Amino acid sequence: MDPILDDVLLSLSTALERDELVNIVESSIHSLFSATSLVFVRTFDNGDDLALAESTTPKGEAAPIRLPSAGAARQCYWTSERVNRSLTSLINANDPLAPLLKRIAAADDDGSSQISFIPIATSATSAPAATKSVMMIIVTIRAKSFGANDEKLLLAFLRHVTAAVDRVHKHGFLVAERDRLNGMLSMCSELIDQNSAMLTRKILGHLKHETECRSCTMLMVDDGMHDLVCQVFDLKELEKEFRLSLDDTLFGYVAKTGDCVNIEDVSKDLRFDPVKDHIGTYAPQSLLCMPVFSKVDPKEIIAVAVIYDKLGHRKFTRWDEEKMRFVLKFCSSVLHNTLVFQKERNLKAQTQALLDVAEVLFTHVESMDVLLQKIMEEARKLTKAERCSLFLLDYETQELVAKIFDSSLNRTGGNERDIRFPLTQGIAGYVATTGEVLNIKDAYSHELFYKDVDLATGFRTRNILCFPIKNEENMIIGVAQLCNKVGAEHFSMEDETLALQFSAYCAISIHQSMLYKGVMDAQNRSQLANELMLYHMQVNETELARLAENPYFDGGPEMSRCSFLPRSVPAKDTPTACMTFFDEMGLIKKWRISSEVLAKFILMTNNGYRNPVYHNWTHAFSVAHFCFALFQTCQKFDFLRDLEIFSLIIGTLCHDLDHRGTNNAYQVSSHSVLAALYSSEGSVMEHHHFAQTLCILNSPGCNILENLTAQQYTDMLDLLRNNILATDLSHHLRIVKHLQAMAQTGFDPENPDHHHLLLCLLMTSCDLCACTKSWESAQAVAELIYTEFFSQGDLERAIGMQPMEMMDRDRACIPELQLNFLDFIAIPVYRLLSQILPETSDVYERVLDGREQWRMKTEEIKRERGLNLLNTHREEAELQLRLASMRNRGATLQHGESIPESLPNSLPDISESSGGGGAVLVGGGRKISSASDPGPELKASWSSHRRGGGSGGGTSKLDEKSINGLDHLQTAANGDGDDDDGAQGKKSTSSLGSTQWRQCSSPKLSTGSDSSEASRQHQVVVETS
Ligand SMILES: [Zn+2]
Repeated sequence: MDPILDDVLLSLSTALERDELVNIVESSIHSLFSATSLVFVRTFDNGDDLALAESTTPKGEAAPIRLPSAGAARQCYWTSERVNRSLTSLINANDPLAPLLKRIAAADDDGSSQISFIPIATSATSAPAATKSVMMIIVTIRAKSFGANDEKLLLAFLRHVTAAVDRVHKHGFLVAERDRLNGMLSMCSELIDQNSAMLTRKILGHLKHETECRSCTMLMVDDGMHDLVCQVFDLKELEKEFRLSLDDTLFGYVAKTGDCVNIEDVSKDLRFDPVKDHIGTYAPQSLLCMPVFSKVDPKEIIAVAVIYDKLGHRKFTRWDEEKMRFVLKFCSSVLHNTLVFQKERNLKAQTQALLDVAEVLFTHVESMDVLLQKIMEEARKLTKAERCSLFLLDYETQELVAKIFDSSLNRTGGNERDIRFPLTQGIAGYVATTGEVLNIKDAYSHELFYKDVDLATGFRTRNILCFPIKNEENMIIGVAQLCNKVGAEHFSMEDETLALQFSAYCAISIHQSMLYKGVMDAQNRSQLANELMLYHMQVNETELARLAENPYFDGGPEMSRCSFLPRSVPAKDTPTACMTFFDEMGLIKKWRISSEVLAKFILMTNNGYRNPVYHNWTHAFSVAHFCFALFQTCQKFDFLRDLEIFSLIIGTLCHDLDHRGTNNAYQVSSHSVLAALYSSEGSVMEHHHFAQTLCILNSPGCNILENLTAQQYTDMLDLLRNNILATDLSHHLRIVKHLQAMAQTGFDPENPDHHHLLLCLLMTSCDLCACTKSWESAQAVAELIYTEFFSQGDLERAIGMQPMEMMDRDRACIPELQLNFLDFIAIPVYRLLSQILPETSDVYERVLDGREQWRMKTEEIKRERGLNLLNTHREEAELQLRLASMRNRGATLQHGESIPESLPNSLPDISESSGGGGAVLVGGGRKISSASDPGPELKASWSSHRRGGGSGGGTSKLDEKSINGLDHLQTAANGDGDDDDGAQGKKSTSSLGSTQWRQCSSPKLSTGSDSSEASRQHQVVVETS
């Protein structure tokens, strides 16, 4: 083998670097082929037709040199075949390389030199991304062409060069790959930013280095695919981010399609619009734009990267595309994480901000004006707006009202007026009517924008975010309008979301503010009502002076007995009698009560009672008297503490204060104000009575507890509360077992529970004392009680409820109900009392006597009803007779000859309504809708009776006069009589009507007893009708 060739091949086999190989190839040609005057070698990379290395760099030429687009060299490159030319023919053919070759060829060359372009094509596998096989062109200039031997040598040489090029290329590729990976690794180690702008800067720096571009940027896809947001341009963080629309822009196209766009000359490419794809003042020549895919969802595009102008080249190559794709692929997960992290952090900050907002707003609910001011301040802070305006919707006038037009304007006092405009006007009007959020990116181009406000104020509105404020029923109550986003081109989707969240807080706080105002108003009204009530309870000064100066009532020794009839005390003397109770019980002295204060307390308490038929001052007085009488009867209560005795007399006197003649159940079912206040605690009325008691004690000059110590005062309030609540019979029924237990063992003065129980029992005993009195008194009071019950029954019917039997004037049979009441409530109470306090045994006896009376009356009714069932027809005839008789005699109606005695059983619908029970019904199932006008109902029932009983021909008919007479009876019996004749039970004229007693009472009921004012009046009315 040729030793020279041997050396050449050896040196070829050692080459690893491209430049080294180029030099070896060049020197080898010279040593192998002596006639060669000049050699230069060009290598190519991955299908790029730019020469990468030069063996001979011609003077004045900047490397690398672009392969001409035509001529012999280009022909060699394209065809991969050797091209032989003479310098003359190149010059003649205007080959682009001719001038260069002529200049570098020997000066003495006459143009006959032979030039050969020898291609070295790689084997296809050596370069993975290569699309062209030609990797090197060797250009030789020789005085003569290659001879046959030369050709032989050249072929052998080229075979080895090809192998060397392959190896060098592969090596170069591996080295490049290693460098690239090292670069990526170092980049990735730096990509730990929690801020997308910082991260973007690092990614772009790497991209710039890898692709050798002049400039670059990255645009993030806004959440919700609305905008592209740019924070960094050419490695610099922008002062103000800018946004590009996804529509009609090249970058938007890339973000939507995921295509990669490589443009050599942007001025010729229709896809690039310098106005829309604006990048500040930079005017690019070429660009390469590529999407960044999410690592989580490979279809999701999170950003778009753009590189501009490859340094030293007209366009970016496929190799650049490859590098860029590679860099972006590595960055995408970090970028994704950073974006997610940033979003989470923003969300957290927003939540915190909203919580702060809530705190601010909810502490300013007391004044709506201050609240609105705060809302606007917070809204501005939250969304970074220059201005905020708030409009409340006035549904009545269909207007928007700006209470404070703009929070950023420091309005100086005096001219703060509501600004009003129609609901249909402007952006705020649109939002108020549609409920939509308007995010206007350019205010002046929006049709609803009203420029005149800007003109008037000199403010320049750029963009607007306008959102509705809705209440919990989703009704729009106002509109907030934010102007000019600070630090960005306009408000983002995030701002919209934030605004809506904020608006929920606004709505709640505005609602709270309104509620607060309502509560304050109600409180003030209640205060006013209280003052008004106290004003009307105020006592007459003369009366007060008289009472304070003459505090003694002489009721005789009888007054100290339980059998005494307190209702016999004239009404005008009851306050004095109360003074006497306090005095004789030793309380005035013990508790150092001034007689003036006590007098005022008693008069106020008197005034604190309303005038229902039963639960009035007379009842309170009677109950207090019973307490006094028990005190006198039972060793002056020496088994009780002084404070307890004091609490008993106050408790009895005040225990029904402001009673309205209706019970607890009625308060609840009629949704009364009292029920709203107290129903959660039970004992609605009793709680109210206690509250009224405190109210009186707190009134100036009424505090009979003023000389108690603080501890005594606190204890006293507890005692009063317990005592008054104990008068609720349901409370009594709850403790009756404990009372029985105490009666068994006897009262233990050391046991605090026994004290409590005994106080309760004493309160109940006092409250029910009416049934411990003489029979005449007891039944008169019973009438009052049922009159009040029936009034409630009527009220219940009026609100569509079915009254209880004892409240239902159509169903109740008083004697029977009384018998039940005594058996189940009263008798056990007084039996327990007499067991514990044997001195009260005569009280118990009298209750038993009363029971016997009621029992006899019940028997009588049953007997009568039995007869009635047998003698319906006879009864009816009798009835007609009685009616006729009444008409003739001017209707002297005695209970003993009650007109409709037999009426119920003669009516067809009676039996089903009475249910066969003890109740005797008048009027059958017909309802007497209200106590005040039962006339027509009665008429109806009477005429129905007449028709029903019309079998006996010629029976007398009810004439108008008698019907009117009955009307009169009814109306008068309902008692409009307010005239105070000094007797008690002033309104006690009975709305029982005539029916209950006629049906259920014995002839002796209406005895005309003085104590039974009701019966007396009742009779008077009947007699005059
Ligand atoms: Zn009572």
